[in-house]
Amino acid sequence: ALERGELEVYYQPQVSCVTRKFKGVEALIRWHHPELGLISPAKFIPIAEQTGLIFPIGEWVLQTACRQNKIWQEQGWPPMRIGVNLSLRQFQKDNLVEKVQAVLLETGLAPEYLELEITESIAMKEKRHIIKILSSLRAMGIHIAIDDFGTEYSSLNYLKHLPVDRLKIDMSFIQGIEEDPKDAAITRTIISLAKNIGLEVIAEGVENEQQFVFLQQHGCNEVQGYYFSPPLPLVAVTELLAEKYSD
Ligand code: C2E
Ligand code: MG
Ligand code: MG
Repeated sequence: ALERGELEVYYQPQVSCVTRKFKGVEALIRWHHPELGLISPAKFIPIAEQTGLIFPIGEWVLQTACRQNKIWQEQGWPPMRIGVNLSLRQFQKDNLVEKVQAVLLETGLAPEYLELEITESIAMKEKRHIIKILSSLRAMGIHIAIDDFGTEYSSLNYLKHLPVDRLKIDMSFIQGIEEDPKDAAITRTIISLAKNIGLEVIAEGVENEQQFVFLQQHGCNEVQGYYFSPPLPLVAVTELLAEKYSD
């Protein structure tokens, strides 16, 4: 797929709860299979992880995302951050920090405009090693986010020591906000937790105004979800940027 140019990066806007304007985007990979059509990363990323193909694929996504973000800046859009998902295996390889550094140098993107997303399950493995890598990345000025927060180990004792910048509340809680008081309570609690320990917080999977208003009222910083925009191909997201962007 990589060789045949069947992979594409889509971009999903991240929106400020205060101004409803674009604050950033998350890069999400897509595979256009010639016969099977569009294949979800949830299907092929786990296989790429098993086979080791996640290394070239992950590097390609990182490069594409950083280059595109730099292009937007050169086109005169106010600078924004781009989120890139990383797999556990990319963390287990020794050269992650050097690879990321090389991509930033090559694309000319300043480190503060890159956010790397890791899941809790990554964060909880080989803790000392992960903390060391995250510290090096953050020392370079890169932001770190914990993806799907609340779905796995969520060790608060460990979170305390993790060098990260923000939590991404998993969409399963957001989607229950209206019907399930427990989901609403958990969402509120994660927002307070983040704020009380000095982290930023973004909610994933926001699909309607009620969910958005709830998050806004409880002080969530940003949201991401179909209510504002699904992940879009480059041309479409750039058009949306033109319509909705300001700082
Ligand atoms: P994720 O990083 O948690 O990404 C969020 C997923 O939620 C995306 O699915 C996005 O399309 C979907 N989503 C966004 N807003 C809504 C909404 O309002 N409602 C619903 N129901 N879904 C929403 P997607 O693009 O299929 O990606 C699935 C997962 O695949 C990602 O979850 C991430 O873990 C992984 N992934 C995607 N791209 C990459 C990549 O480049 N590298 C790695 N390692 N993993 C990736
Ligand atoms: Mg993500
Ligand atoms: Mg997520």
